[in-house]
Amino acid sequence: DRFEIITFKNAFHGRTMATISASNQEKMHHGFSPLLAGFKYVEFDDLEAAEAAITDKTAAFLVEPIQGEGGVRPASEAFMRGLRDLADKYGFLLALDEVQCGVARTGALYAHELYGITPDILATAKGIGGGFPLGACLATEDAARGMVVGTHGSTYGGNPLAMAAGNAVWDVVANDEFLENVRLTGDKLRAAIEQFIGNYPNLFKGVRGKGLMLGIMMTQESRSFVAHLRDNHGLLTVAAGDNTLRILPPLIIDDSHIATFIEKLSAGAADYAAAAS
Ligand SMILES: *Cc1c(COP(=O)(O)O)cnc(C)c1O
Repeated sequence: DRFEIITFKNAFHGRTMATISASNQEKMHHGFSPLLAGFKYVEFDDLEAAEAAITDKTAAFLVEPIQGEGGVRPASEAFMRGLRDLADKYGFLLALDEVQCGVARTGALYAHELYGITPDILATAKGIGGGFPLGACLATEDAARGMVVGTHGSTYGGNPLAMAAGNAVWDVVANDEFLENVRLTGDKLRAAIEQFIGNYPNLFKGVRGKGLMLGIMMTQESRSFVAHLRDNHGLLTVAAGDNTLRILPPLIIDDSHIATFIEKLSAGAADYAAAAS
């Protein structure tokens, strides 16, 4: 009888009918109604709101440990641990969407490791194929009890080419040395950005994120700055919610790439600011 899933505001879980319904974002709903029933949206990083939304119909929490599209917003440790405890206490599942923050992006193989918790269900994609389209849904044996042969399948599921690509990625990323390097490089990139944004307090407010999943918070909408960096400086960033400039470089960058990035970002900020004044 439990069919309700509690999700969090400004989340992004993809564009299937179910995952559109799982997001509270109006712009994603447009043109797709009626949505699937059973999703309840509460404030991200608000444990009290999450508990208040629980009913005897609750089946799961679904959450990104670090919201990606929502603006590179890491959940607090108390929130993630609290969700785990609530799910255990009330006897339902904790499902994590690590499609963007997983596969070494944060310097941990999966972001939930940074919070010292384990999920019952985990969605992983994007980086897992290193550019090849691949996604996977992992579950504990207990949570997967209902997923037996015949309940789910897909024409291309488990295809040998994608599995080979995934294995090749895994051989590279799933080792301590690689992860350590992501953390180190992430720290350097973040320090460089922090130092740089001090020069433009009118444009930038701060940096957040973990590892090589960073967001620069802007004082204004970030989309036109993203276009400016791309068109005039050949620098690829991406806009995210909450006026954020998203920085998700390849995990193999080194100091020289950080230097080039800051150079282009500086040049971009300088002419952007000059054009605005
Ligand atoms: C990219 C992404 C997805 C998947 O999005 P699709 O548009 O369905 O490929 C799901 N969750 C998160 C957090 C993502 O960043």
